[in-house]
Amino acid sequence: MHKHIASWAVIGAGPAGIIAVGKLLDIGINPKEILWIDPEFKVGDFGKHWRNVVSNTNVWGFIKLFYACNAFKFGSAPDFEINKRDLFGSCRLALVADPLQWISDHLKSTVNSIYGMVSNLKMCDRHWHINLENIQLKSKNVVLAIGAEPKSLSFANVEEIPLKVALDSHKLERVCNQEDTIGIFGSSHSAILILKTLLEKCNVKKVLNFYLSPLRYQVKFDDGILFADTGLKAETAAWARANIDGKLPEKLERILSNKVNLQKTLPLCSKVIYAIGFEKRNIKVHGIEKLEYHPKTGIIAPGLFGFGIAFPQAQTDHYGTLEYRVGLGKFYYYLTHILPIWMSYGA
Ligand SMILES: Cc1cc2nc3c(=O)[nH]c(=O)nc-3n(C[C@H](O)[C@H](O)[C@H](O)COP(=O)(O)OP(=O)(O)OC[C@H]3O[C@@H](n4cnc5c(N)ncnc54)[C@H](O)[C@@H]3O)c2cc1C
Repeated sequence: MHKHIASWAVIGAGPAGIIAVGKLLDIGINPKEILWIDPEFKVGDFGKHWRNVVSNTNVWGFIKLFYACNAFKFGSAPDFEINKRDLFGSCRLALVADPLQWISDHLKSTVNSIYGMVSNLKMCDRHWHINLENIQLKSKNVVLAIGAEPKSLSFANVEEIPLKVALDSHKLERVCNQEDTIGIFGSSHSAILILKTLLEKCNVKKVLNFYLSPLRYQVKFDDGILFADTGLKAETAAWARANIDGKLPEKLERILSNKVNLQKTLPLCSKVIYAIGFEKRNIKVHGIEKLEYHPKTGIIAPGLFGFGIAFPQAQTDHYGTLEYRVGLGKFYYYLTHILPIWMSYGA
């Protein structure tokens, strides 16, 4: 296979990579013509770091996705724990990661899968040369589903609790103590989940929540959803309404994150957490300085496409709000829409 030129290479085996491989098989691409590359094949960050996070989408949405691609062959999967849960409730992401791991294992043995990290890509003779540590592969088209890293503000002189630790309540409990004043930046779903854990489970002295804008809630109407992607929903929204817009817990102080306030209050923090969004991972592409993508089609260059949390679809909703659509079900519907475009935008 390695001397052979593939028609499609998918780089990354997180949820986005899994969906990309499933959709390519469903539209009839020969499995022998698909290369799939990842260092671990463990469902990406979703499977490794977010297992203990409570979902912001419901169980039904996940189950629908497992059956969405014929290539997933989910009809013959074992009876996973998620099947026993309330279809319209949230669940821990581990319950989603386990079925995805089963799907990933099955797809991995269907297509040409290669363990490794891609270091760079180069276009030559209308093919993408994909360079890994000790092999070079070639493909007509490449899908980058490489995921994103949490953003940081890197303030000096204060210890940072990484988001991957903060979003796991057991780990967060272990790294905090009763002398700690914890500063947490952000006001989205992740920030609210962490605030709830800090106040309810970790015995800390004080929590300072640095925010830039008012909280946003998702609201459903008959003809659309307001703040469908950025708004707080489900249990997180209920907690925020009661505790932040309602009665502020005793140990919590909310502080507008401006220069004057930060100069005054940041030195009070023994540890900080940045829950301020994500930044796409990078792969060097020869001749392209910065990985820019077209936010409605994922096109980066002829035959090179971005997909998943690193390259989310931009969509203006019914109410005029521009949002970036991140979530498993959204990835699936977006790809259904853009795959025909990718098919005719090859190298
Ligand atoms: C805290 C949190 C909660 C979320 N909750 C939900 C939810 O409730 N519902 C929902 O639908 N979505 C949720 N999401 C959103 C979304 O489903 C996840 O962000 C998802 O993990 C993104 O998948 P991905 O495949 O794009 O990236 P990742 O999961 O990060 O996978 C990327 C993969 O690419 C690999 N890779 C990177 N670079 C290279 C390279 N150079 N060569 C080879 N491989 C490479 C990585 O090793 C990794 O395996 C949540 C996200 C977060 C952060």
